[in-house]
Amino acid sequence: MATPALMQNYGERTLTLVRGEGNYVWDDSGHRYLDAIAGIAVCGLGHCHPAVTAALQDQAHTLLHVSNLYNIPAQEQLADKLVAVSGMDNVFFSNSGAEANEAAIKLARRLGSERGLACPRIVVMEQAFHGRTLATLTATGNEKVQQGFGPLPEGFLRVPFNDVEAIEALAAEHDDIVAVLVEPVQGEGGVRVPDSDYLRRLRELCNRHNWLLMLDEIQTGNGRTGELFAYQHAGILPDVVTTAKGLGNGVPIGACLASGVAAQLFGAGSHGSTFGGNPLACRAALAVLETLESERLVERAAALGDSLLQQLRVQLGGCDAVRQVRGLGLMVGIELDRPCAELVQQARASDLLINVTAGNVVRLLPPLTLSDSECRQLADTVSTLILQFVRRAA
Ligand SMILES: *Cc1c(COP(=O)(O)O)cnc(C)c1O
Repeated sequence: MATPALMQNYGERTLTLVRGEGNYVWDDSGHRYLDAIAGIAVCGLGHCHPAVTAALQDQAHTLLHVSNLYNIPAQEQLADKLVAVSGMDNVFFSNSGAEANEAAIKLARRLGSERGLACPRIVVMEQAFHGRTLATLTATGNEKVQQGFGPLPEGFLRVPFNDVEAIEALAAEHDDIVAVLVEPVQGEGGVRVPDSDYLRRLRELCNRHNWLLMLDEIQTGNGRTGELFAYQHAGILPDVVTTAKGLGNGVPIGACLASGVAAQLFGAGSHGSTFGGNPLACRAALAVLETLESERLVERAAALGDSLLQQLRVQLGGCDAVRQVRGLGLMVGIELDRPCAELVQQARASDLLINVTAGNVVRLLPPLTLSDSECRQLADTVSTLILQFVRRAA
């Protein structure tokens, strides 16, 4: 039992992990698990990657924090690097995903204000997840996340995911829309992969209406889907893109990148953060981006993801209870026809950490450093567990 000194917002936690190395973590009785969640898509380089550890150690000896009252060389290097690899124009650093999305939402509102709109609106999606702050939980398409936290901020319009026509229909009813905010692949909502032309069509739609296309790549970014950012699969450039999770490999950091008009909306004093972009977090993120390149892990995520999907599809192909095996790169979901939260516990008994999201979707988010044999082991174990689970119920 966790100490009552903690607020009870996380529900019961039944496993205590005390050490990690590469693709494995160990619990407090010395038991080893293959980690196919990676801290919810955070530890893309695996646990305690030596390049990140070395950068942190070096910076911990040098300077941890000064605030944004001063120039921060590591922050500038990280900004230059992110801009170069993303094609965006500039960046604001936060400490978390939700804060990166808050920055994006504030950019959209600024644009609305410049356009003289009393209530500028942002189009968001059903099943979306954008965070737990008041604005981002309002953007989130899950009533459980919003329950009991009213009054919620105004200015959001919701449509089904992967439905460009539904947004087109909204455009006919509302003349105060300023932006579309969407995940390129929905994560918490069930690893939902849209049609391959979805982002390109959203880009065209936003161009036509003069709206910002704002992509939440907090989970899909940093190589997870087999491109550094998922929009790079579509060959488009968004106006705003947020990322966080994998950027620091476990050190809290978020980023809101902007291009074009969106990159000019914040002026001095319009937004800020005490910790955001501090030397420690930026050194970690720089080490992550350098390692993704030097170890060619983005290409690796694409190849591993294809192979994992293929193995799972072969092994689960004959199982009627499996509705769909889907994913992009190393973001993989297996949708069952029934709730399957028990699989998390059953996987632990097989020395494997997985996650179940949206009630009936097994979600795999392994490190990008997985070996071929670990990938096979993951596919075998997960398939076996699902087949056993389904058979037991029959
Ligand atoms: C995790 C996540 C967030 C929230 O990030 P936090 O760091 O928990 O605030 C927002 N959007 C998406 C798509 C996420 O996966």
